[in-house]
Amino acid sequence: MLLGAEAERPYERPPLTKDYLRGESERDKAYVHAADFYADNEVDLETATTVTAIDPAGSRVTLDDGRTFAFDRLLLTTGAEPRRIPVDGRGS
Ligand SMILES: Cc1cc2nc3c(=O)[nH]c(=O)nc-3n(C[C@H](O)[C@H](O)[C@H](O)COP(=O)(O)OP(=O)(O)OC[C@H]3O[C@@H](n4cnc5c(N)ncnc54)[C@H](O)[C@@H]3O)c2cc1C
Repeated sequence: MLLGAEAERPYERPPLTKDYLRGESERDKAYVHAADFYADNEVDLETATTVTAIDPAGSRVTLDDGRTFAFDRLLLTTGAEPRRIPVDGRGS
């Protein structure tokens, strides 16, 4: 199972700013896999789904819609975002 907060299936970021926005590549080229890859490989892809809690002792995750799933193994790949300093004059 692959859970992700974004509405899109997994995509590479670099082509967005290097090629796609300049009109030099097709949108489909940015995707990591074709749309049917996940079902074909028995991956249950849940997009637009945010994990709101992880219970390591009980081996369960809770989603923003209230569903919970048990896991045998969990790989956390949530990336990172820069912290914005709460002071006047900072950029947006
Ligand atoms: C437009 C753009 C262009 C870039 N170009 C380059 C480049 O040319 N070269 C380069 O080296 N780097 C580039 N980067 C940076 C590079 O894409 C990132 O360093 C890389 O994507 C980080 O990968 P990651 O898997 O750690 O995190 P991410 O790609 O950020 O993936 C984390 C995923 O976790 C999901 N997530 C987070 N929290 C939750 C939650 N609670 N529940 C469910 N899902 C959750 C997020 O929605 C996201 O889909 C670019 C980034 C952007 C945005």
